[in-house]
Amino acid sequence: MLDRMVPKADLNRFIDRLASEQTVAAPVAEGPSIRFQAIRAAHEIAEHYLPTALPPSKYLLPVKETLLQFRLGEHIEMEPVLEAPEVIVFGIRPCDLHALALLDAIFIDDKHDGHYAARRRRITLVGMECLEPCDDRCFCHSMETLEVHANYDLLLTDLGDDVYVAVGSPKGRDLFAGLTGAREALYEDRTRLRRAHEARDAAFTPRLDVSFDQLPGLLAESADSLLWDVLGEKCLSCGACTNVCPTCYCFDVGDELDLDLATGRRYRTWDSCQLDAFAMVGTGESFRKPRAMRVKHRLNRKGRYIMERYGRQGCVGCGRCARACLVDINPIEVFNQLKGQPASRTVR
Ligand code: SF4
Ligand code: SF4
Repeated sequence: MLDRMVPKADLNRFIDRLASEQTVAAPVAEGPSIRFQAIRAAHEIAEHYLPTALPPSKYLLPVKETLLQFRLGEHIEMEPVLEAPEVIVFGIRPCDLHALALLDAIFIDDKHDGHYAARRRRITLVGMECLEPCDDRCFCHSMETLEVHANYDLLLTDLGDDVYVAVGSPKGRDLFAGLTGAREALYEDRTRLRRAHEARDAAFTPRLDVSFDQLPGLLAESADSLLWDVLGEKCLSCGACTNVCPTCYCFDVGDELDLDLATGRRYRTWDSCQLDAFAMVGTGESFRKPRAMRVKHRLNRKGRYIMERYGRQGCVGCGRCARACLVDINPIEVFNQLKGQPASRTVR
């Protein structure tokens, strides 16, 4: 599909019109944090932004969603609830597009989850390339998620007064068809894009001492590292790291009964492997009781298990967990310490 070039002023007018006609979400500054939320006009979009407090996956896996309604009686009647609002999400960073590709692989290709799939069909993904590092906690370059070549409808690159638009799907092409001022990208435009990418590549440096595809081996070798005990002593088990992570998707399922004791609903809600009750079984025991085991489990999910199962990065290097952690547990430091220390040595 042919890429396009559009003056920024025309793009902003286009966003204004879209936002007056349908739900458009974008990163908006709210105090010190940036959140994806519905906008009414382009000027509400934050200009320079760190990764949002919560990732855009919240539009596909809401914090709490009803799965079905039921009525108790001689037979239990059940009806699925599929709430899938149409939404255009603007300004998704490449790391988050990689995370959404992982969620698609899990919830659509592997699990055939109807609720996720219904939301996914009605969401339009408009990415925004990163041309400079967010801060010292992001490590997308090391996880090879700085560049994205698929899983978006449109991908924008800010070239000053103009925006380069890569069209990634028929949905993106149709959305963009309504934009006046856009024209086909020419050779000179591609040259400008290439120069922007060269400057970007010079600005990003590797933060990990291992490549992302060496992480599974490193973590397997480090199963008995005493570093896990050190991290377990520090960790507060608050679950903030998993709540903000774009590749975390674990949920709990519960039933709510109405006051009539006859009708109710089944819901699912976010859960966290860092919480004490997560691994509790019916007899009351938890098979991951020590905090060290939970921290080790999370970082193995991110660097090893998901890669082994799905062949994709389980961590996209966004740095959200490190920014959210009150005791500074940072995957960059953990992976680099594991790399630098023999597995049997204490790291203090
Ligand atoms: S583990 Fe941390 S850095 Fe990796 S994707 Fe999750 S929040 Fe981002
Ligand atoms: S945010 Fe930090 S303290 Fe809280 S559970 Fe995660 S690693 Fe532990």
